[in-house]
Amino acid sequence: MAYIGFLCLRSLYRDSVLYCFIWGWCFSLSIKSILAKHPIKGFLAEDEGEHLYSLALEQAHLGPCLEVGSYCGLSTVYLGCACKQKNSTLYAVDHHRGSEEHQQGEEYHDTDLYDAVAQEMNSFPAFRRTLRVAELENTVIPIVASSKNARCHWGTPLSLVFIDGGHSLETALDDCVGWSRFLLSGGILAVHDIFEHPEQGGQGPWLALNAVLASGEFDLLPQVNSLGVLRKK
Ligand code: MG
Repeated sequence: MAYIGFLCLRSLYRDSVLYCFIWGWCFSLSIKSILAKHPIKGFLAEDEGEHLYSLALEQAHLGPCLEVGSYCGLSTVYLGCACKQKNSTLYAVDHHRGSEEHQQGEEYHDTDLYDAVAQEMNSFPAFRRTLRVAELENTVIPIVASSKNARCHWGTPLSLVFIDGGHSLETALDDCVGWSRFLLSGGILAVHDIFEHPEQGGQGPWLALNAVLASGEFDLLPQVNSLGVLRKK
């Protein structure tokens, strides 16, 4: 009798693993087809996006996820699809006025995203289009505000935080330290553009990630491309 019970449990376990694998694979395919049909401007590499998707998929049942620096919504699609799959929510924080490097005359300025009447950057229309084409309007809650303003009355515990906002040391440090306080135990802090050496890129996010790690409250997980990851103890 016990042996039959064991066989039933083993079969259920196998089925659930297989189910998760097939389900995850289908969703990953659907992200690829969304991005192929509707190219989204952004600076996230495919392996980084897929890793974000996997991390959110394992975290989102514990609580909502949050990203800082949505821009046109490329990372939002990866995180949002995982949250949708788990019936969770993604808060997407961005003032949509662009970071320092997006301003006129700077390296990553994009004239398509410049509002000539207001004479300011405005990535929000492109971001809303992304939510519509990816069918994420019931999963992603846009917060059109600076990271600091969005956080000042924040109280919701989070299962995953992804930081890709301003890249100066001051801003990256404020984002990483400030938002990681809201992570649940076991929650994930993922930070984009982690470059250990100055010749690879700016040092702000890397120094900010290491400042959080130095608190002793986090474990370092493997980095994927420039995506650094910590898990709260
Ligand atoms: Mg980035």
